[in-house]
Amino acid sequence: MLWPKNLNKEIKTGIKLADLTSFKIGGRARFFFEPRDLKSLQEALACARKAKVKVFILGAGSNILASDSGIDGMVIKLSGRDFKGLDNKGTCITAGSGLKLNQLILFAKDKGLSGLEFLAGVPGTLGGSLAGNAGAWGKSIGEQVKEVSVLDYNGRQKLLAGRKLKFAYRKSNLNKYIILSAKLKLHPADKERIAFKIKEYLLKRSKTQGSSLPNAGCVFKNPAKSPAGSLIDACGLKGKTKGAALISRVHANFILNLGKAKSGDVLSLMDLMRRKVKERFKINLQPEIKIWR
Ligand SMILES: Cc1cc2nc3c(=O)[nH]c(=O)nc-3n(C[C@H](O)[C@H](O)[C@H](O)COP(=O)(O)OP(=O)(O)OC[C@H]3O[C@@H](n4cnc5c(N)ncnc54)[C@H](O)[C@@H]3O)c2cc1C
Repeated sequence: MLWPKNLNKEIKTGIKLADLTSFKIGGRARFFFEPRDLKSLQEALACARKAKVKVFILGAGSNILASDSGIDGMVIKLSGRDFKGLDNKGTCITAGSGLKLNQLILFAKDKGLSGLEFLAGVPGTLGGSLAGNAGAWGKSIGEQVKEVSVLDYNGRQKLLAGRKLKFAYRKSNLNKYIILSAKLKLHPADKERIAFKIKEYLLKRSKTQGSSLPNAGCVFKNPAKSPAGSLIDACGLKGKTKGAALISRVHANFILNLGKAKSGDVLSLMDLMRRKVKERFKINLQPEIKIWR
């Protein structure tokens, strides 16, 4: 594979996805690239397209189960400074997609802007959170979004706003693009009140999820009738293991990596959860985590 001279040294090979995902699972990516700016991202995309190399965009890796066999493609992580901008005008914040949600939430708090506190403790980047319309406690990030700057896989930049933006429960129309940045509309509030709300949400989260073992959050989306965790719990699956993967005893929709879990261990448990819930409740669980293979 021939990359342009200026990128040749920056495009790495054989990087382990286990080191880049919160699950700590996953084999090697054939190519791995952290572009420093938009131009080098566009160049790499053009080369990958020409060579028919599949491109995967990685945020904080907190919602991904990567295969132990690795990824035959190019994983791109938008961690360069150009993708981590933060700016505030009035009640709006414009932020780069590579920025961690917690940085964004704290920036908003310091500016006395409220509306993102419910996301406290969600360990993703802004880009990953927009792609999957991350949410918690009945709210989701899409509600705050005014416009989003994206790149299509042909390297063309677009600004999406209004009816061109579509958010629904844990999905958006943005995952077909590379999200570059977004403008969020918030509302003014007292800084101390915002800080208090952030603390409250973090506390609530630690009570309901609480585990220090590697995981990727909820593995299944909540069906309309009942939370997936309650359905899985009712099937008596808390504490079940496969290899080194365990269905959490605290939150049945979480699978924990006890140490050396394989992607296949997690998939087997997901299969068990899906089968049991289907048998007992006639409900088809849909994965929330993204399975990369
Ligand atoms: C302990 C824990 C708790 C969690 N709690 C919640 C919760 O309460 N609510 C919730 O919604 N989620 C939760 N999650 C899941 C996860 O944190 C969110 O889905 C988060 O938004 C994913 O962001 P990320 O940057 O890690 O994305 P990644 O996991 O890196 O990627 C997820 C998807 O987004 C795509 N993507 C990432 N960046 C971009 C980009 N710039 N452009 C286009 N596509 C992109 C990827 O290709 C992939 O398909 C939790 C996870 C953990 C580990």
